[in-house]
Parts: sequence; C-alpha cells; structure tokens
Amino acid sequence: MADQDWQAYLEAIDQADLTELEALRVEVLGRRGKLTEALRALSQLPPEARRESGQMLNRTKAAIEERLMSRRQTLAESALVQRLAEERVDLTLPGEPIALGHPHPLAMIQERLVSIFVAMGFQVALGPEVEDDWHNFEALNFPKDHPARDMQDSFTLASGGWLLRTHTSPVQIRAMRASAPGPLRIIAPGRVYRRDDDATHASAFHQIEGLVVDHGVSMAHLKATLATFVRELFGSKVAIRFRPSYFPFTEPSAELDVGCLFCGQKGCVLCSETGWLEVLGAGLVHPNVLLAGGYDPEAVTGFAFGLGIERLTMLYYQIPDVRILLQGDLQFLEQF
Ligand SMILES: [Zn+2]
Repeated sequence: MADQDWQAYLEAIDQADLTELEALRVEVLGRRGKLTEALRALSQLPPEARRESGQMLNRTKAAIEERLMSRRQTLAESALVQRLAEERVDLTLPGEPIALGHPHPLAMIQERLVSIFVAMGFQVALGPEVEDDWHNFEALNFPKDHPARDMQDSFTLASGGWLLRTHTSPVQIRAMRASAPGPLRIIAPGRVYRRDDDATHASAFHQIEGLVVDHGVSMAHLKATLATFVRELFGSKVAIRFRPSYFPFTEPSAELDVGCLFCGQKGCVLCSETGWLEVLGAGLVHPNVLLAGGYDPEAVTGFAFGLGIERLTMLYYQIPDVRILLQGDLQFLEQF
C-alpha cells in the first residue's frame, strides 16, 4: 500500500465522529486490518525490502494511533463543551411565581372598621368568648326570663353557668368595670356564637361593639360619631337615617340605615324594595348597664352601638349571599 493511501486514512480520521473512528481503527489496525495485514506480509519480502518497509509501516502505525487518540480527545472535549452549553443554568431567568395569600374579606373589613374608630380616639378592647350568664345577659339588662333572651339562643357549657358569648356586649361590662369612674371610649371586635337553626345564619359570626361613657354624652354625640363612621366607610354621598328601635341595654335605642348600595335607593330584592339597608343598632346606655359597669347613672351617660361584620362586609363589597363568605372558595376569595 502506498504512502498516500495511509495519508487518506489520516485525513479520514480527522473528519470522523466516534462511530466512524472505531470503524476506521478496525479497518486499519484491527486483527484483519490493512496495516496489520501489511505488517504480517513483511515476512514474505526479501530482507532489505523488509527492513525498509518495516520501518515505514511502523512509523505509519504510530502516526495513525496517535491521530486516532488525538481525534478521540477532540471529540470528547467538544461533547463536554456541548453538554455544558445545554445544561447551563440561566440565573437571570424569572423564577416560579409564589402565590401570596391575603387576609379574608371579613378580616379586612374588621381591620378597616377598627382603624376608622381608632382614628376617632377609640381604644380596642377584647374579652373572652366563653362568658358567664351575668356578663352576657344580666349585667346588660337581660334579666332571667327576659323575652329578649329568646332572640339570642345560646350554646351553654355543661359545667354550669358558662356559655359561648352571644354578642360582643359583655366586653362593655368588663371595660366599664376596669375604668369606672373614669371616661371610656372603646371599640370591641370579636367572634360571637348563636344557636341559629336557619340556612342563612351561621352559628359563629363576628360583631364589633362601641361604647363611650363620660359626662354629658348625648344622642347628638352618637349620631355624629356614627354618621362620621358610615361616611368614612361608604363615602360622603351615602344617605343615612336613624329609626327608633328597642334593645334591652340601651334607652332610647335606634337603628341606623344607609341608602341601598345595590339599587341606589330605587328599591330591589336586597333592600326589600324599601331603598334602605340596616347597618347597626345603637342607643344611650341604659342606667342599669351603667350601674352594672360600676358607674353612677346620675353622674355620667354613655352611648353604645354594635354591628355584624359579616353583614357589613356583604354591604361593602356588594356580596348578595353571606354563605359565600364562609365557604373558603379560593375562586371567590382571590377576587379581593
Ligand atoms: Zn336596594
């Protein structure tokens, strides 16, 4: 075989991929390879020719082996470079978004209400959810067998005398007894419990309660405070009216309505075609309640008000059904 033929193999090696490289190695250096056969055939030559050809073939074999090795290394390196390029991590790519939660609409409204009253100088007061009969009823002028107790069917605890509070009003009594005879201005948000058995009332819900006790507190202070609150929450254009009402713990008592936010006072199902929505109950603190709180009803007066946070949340966000607020449905909650 002539020199240029071996040269062609060297050039082929430089172009080969890994599979071709192995095929070339077998073709030239394998057990029946061209070069192997040529070396084997040396023994057939006369001694002088054998020597010359032997040297030539051995140089060729060394050259081919070296070229095979160097090509194999080149291929391995380029494979590594390619792999590195493919597996590269781009640290500048944006990450997987993390879904952030937010407070429940009821919690947002409660927070909003508290902040409005705190801005008016009220302090937040909290009380226990398990109460005794005296704080929950008697001190608030609900004597035993008083018919108003029927409106607040309660969960009583097996160990006598305790119940789950039916309203946040017992916080009034606790706050008064801690402050008497000094002035008092509190806002008391919290969870309350009633044994309601119809489909539209939950057995646990939230109220917020306000109480002011001081010298010379009048109905005018109550109206101004609540009007400020309602306009702060619903905007200055909302219509407001007070209606006489009855609660055991206030005298006189009133309810505050706002112009229907759903129909613009034209009349709709949600306002029972009246154009008005009830928002809260209020009144001047009954003298018996002041006495139970440790105050002298001859020396001080006070006003109190209370409202349901679920109901207000429905009005504020114009949600037509209270049950949606309690179902924990993310498709609903993520809208806030
Ligand atoms: Zn309406």
